[in-house]
Amino acid sequence: MTIELPKAYEPREIEERWARAWVDQELFRADPNQRGPVFSIVIPPPNVTGSLHIGHMLNHTEIDILTRWNRMRGFNTLYLPGTDHAGIGTQVVVERHLAAEGLTRQKIGRAAFEERIWKWKQESGGAIKQQMIQLGESCDWSRERFTLDPGLANVVREVFVRLYEEGLIYRGHYMVNWCPRCQTAISDLETVHVERAGKLWHIRYPFSDGEGYIVVATTRPETMLGDAAVAVHPSDERYQRFVGRTIRLPLTGREISVIADEYVDPAFGTGAVKITPAHDPNDFEIGKRHNLRELNVLTEDARMNDAAGTYAGLDRFAARKKILADLESQGLLEKVEDHALTVGVCDRCKTDIEPRASTQWFVKMKPLAKPAIAAVESGEISIIPEFHKATYFEWMRNIRDWCISRQLWWGHRIPAWHCRECGEIAVSRETPTQCPRGHIGTLQQDPDVLDTWFSSSLWPFSTLGWPEETADFRRYYPTSLLLTGHDILFFWVARMIMMGLKFTGQAPFPHVYLHSLVRTSEGAKMSKSKGTGIDPLTINAKYGTDAIRFTLASIAAPGTDVVLSEDRMQSGRAFANKIWNAMRFVFFNLEKAEGTGLTLQELASPKARAGAPYAMDGKLALEDAWIFSRLAGVTLQINEALENYRFHEAANIIYHFFWGEICDWYIEWIKPRLTDATAARATIAWKNLFAVLEAALRLLHPFMPFLTEELWHKLPQPADARSIALDTFPEVQPSWTNPAAEAEMALLQSVIGAARNLRAESKVDAKEKLEADFFSTDNSIFQVVRENCDAIQRLAGLAVLRLATSRFDATGGAIRTTAQFDLRVIRNSHDNSPSETSIGADAERARLGKEIDRLSKDVESKRARLADAQFRSRAPAAVVAGVEATLAERRTELEKLSVRLSEIGKH
Ligand SMILES: [Zn+2]
Ligand SMILES: [Zn+2]
Repeated sequence: MTIELPKAYEPREIEERWARAWVDQELFRADPNQRGPVFSIVIPPPNVTGSLHIGHMLNHTEIDILTRWNRMRGFNTLYLPGTDHAGIGTQVVVERHLAAEGLTRQKIGRAAFEERIWKWKQESGGAIKQQMIQLGESCDWSRERFTLDPGLANVVREVFVRLYEEGLIYRGHYMVNWCPRCQTAISDLETVHVERAGKLWHIRYPFSDGEGYIVVATTRPETMLGDAAVAVHPSDERYQRFVGRTIRLPLTGREISVIADEYVDPAFGTGAVKITPAHDPNDFEIGKRHNLRELNVLTEDARMNDAAGTYAGLDRFAARKKILADLESQGLLEKVEDHALTVGVCDRCKTDIEPRASTQWFVKMKPLAKPAIAAVESGEISIIPEFHKATYFEWMRNIRDWCISRQLWWGHRIPAWHCRECGEIAVSRETPTQCPRGHIGTLQQDPDVLDTWFSSSLWPFSTLGWPEETADFRRYYPTSLLLTGHDILFFWVARMIMMGLKFTGQAPFPHVYLHSLVRTSEGAKMSKSKGTGIDPLTINAKYGTDAIRFTLASIAAPGTDVVLSEDRMQSGRAFANKIWNAMRFVFFNLEKAEGTGLTLQELASPKARAGAPYAMDGKLALEDAWIFSRLAGVTLQINEALENYRFHEAANIIYHFFWGEICDWYIEWIKPRLTDATAARATIAWKNLFAVLEAALRLLHPFMPFLTEELWHKLPQPADARSIALDTFPEVQPSWTNPAAEAEMALLQSVIGAARNLRAESKVDAKEKLEADFFSTDNSIFQVVRENCDAIQRLAGLAVLRLATSRFDATGGAIRTTAQFDLRVIRNSHDNSPSETSIGADAERARLGKEIDRLSKDVESKRARLADAQFRSRAPAAVVAGVEATLAERRTELEKLSVRLSEIGKH
């Protein structure tokens, strides 16, 4: 009767084997017809051409823990994977490849460029799937989606057309953030603001009548060629008399007027500012108020255009230099000041943003935001941790219309067609053949594509078959939960809520859990560019996926950034090793149980599991009662922790249970019973042990799926057992709860612990058997110790444990005194040579001295704390009472030790 388990735990081989098997067997394929409550979750789609970084791994581990846990709890579970086409991000990367070949997208043309991107997606787009498989994510790969696949493209069109028909999508001429390198509008959220040292140039603008000038201050002199006015504050006494006068704009000779507008800040520069409606968002607004001309002097790639006259063709920064030189030579540059300014740069390519007035497509957001605000206010959607709600409301209440058009070639093309004949626009689900006025053959599709977040905002329902009432949509929508990073609360989460409510009438998920960011042990945010990133492939190879998953879970406290270090990963790996070795130890003992009549078939029967714990002649062994009581308690705690996204608590509970209670105590405790000469006794011990181990593996499975799958298959299982992932999560068995057994076990552990500590402190070799005396004034404690004398002796390495009938005097040995009992260990009393009759008095004096020292310091610090009026007034009463109680205990212990030290002194 043997179970083979390799000597060394080799995660790589085990993990690769199971990862492949799970995918090949389509183990996690969802079936809408299967019964049970639903748990469905969609992945936050990563950029298709990227790879997962450690932040993704935290996110994916958390999602997979919840998914596996719920699947095992009997939920009909769907975890839907997929990737995002990531418009601008992907296009920029492929453009870089082209540039390396001396090409541009314009040179090769739209169709060829799109083909290039698809090809690149084909080649490099599989990395994420491979990583997810390697991470053991239990997704349904048959339902994998891509935001540009045909089904999703239809949904995008449907939504666009509906919004357009309702007047919620419109074309507008507005100021947008323009990236001259990417040559597209980008959103405020894709614009990074950087502080920069700049200049403030004071320029004289002469009046047309030749009588004097007005001085304007500007940080961007090159845009003056597009000036439409000079503005001052209406109540600025310095300038009131100039309002309405005409200026001859330097370098162009064009005439503009001085206007008054409340917007002007009299304290900025000279109090007079140039107004350039085509190149500044505020000037754009002022221009609209005063009906000013919008004169664009820049091209799309930020060169001066023909309207800039002799400056045409110059890059914006070259033009600035030349303009300043020309002003200087004409005596129009009055002064230059240093001036710190904030510049917007493109998040993708870091080029300075150029505000640009252009015609774009917009979504009216206020009507969509209103129900989305209400859904969070009413609690229909909860956001966890709660403090993110304030940010959500702040953003949603001040929401601006969303510019959804991008001048890119990679993405969902806008379903609008312009008539060359009459200029009418046809917006349609199908490619139209005629314009709204009936012109045929005159239509041209809008060249722009949609912002990538437009399609991702539809992700929870577009992936499930909407607008059709598919079986998936009916069964799995709304999804159960959204779990993502808080950095995309606006980009993605808020927009999904708005779109979900608008198009399905239901919130796309009832809960949003925003997980933490991962930091290095130095506290820096993980970043590849800063070299602080941890490469997932490297650490997986080094520690194994299970260890990494467990480590990530064990540090994932909600609401705080989490710190990942090599030490942490080592302890994850040590945990996996510990479990492996404990199982080997058990299987090794199984061989020795030959002849007890036990069969593996018997252990494999489902009854063996359900019927645990087993009793002998109606009497349940204390350690069995205890471990099953712990199992019930731990299961309940893990469920509670996971229900509240407290992954770190759940991980720490299973860690302590498996390592501390099962491996260090239970297995050691029952070892003699496993090979008991009485077959019935051995059989019961094995049944209980396997039931506990098997349940513990199931508790651990969501965290460490590979190791647990491997070991679960080693344990005797019914013939039709497929995977631990499809097995049940242990159920909380209230009848197993046994506070008396837990209290007794705690007492015995503290007796054994006391003996082990005394041995260690007295530096006695672990192999040397000691003698011990035990005394307690409590009869029930005496009783428990008497009944478990054998176990105490074995586990504490004692030759004998004597139960004293009266308090023993302090002669010889080392004594530990607790509130419940006194324990003395003595070295070999049969050898009566004076130096060996006891643990040396000197050693004991030294030990006691140290102990007294430690306690004194503790007493002093607690006393000082209680003396602190501020602590007393601010700390909760219960905390103060707790400190007071501990102080009293420490004082008693200190007293006892001092008495003992003086007694030793007498001998
Ligand atoms: Zn850019
Ligand atoms: Zn027409």
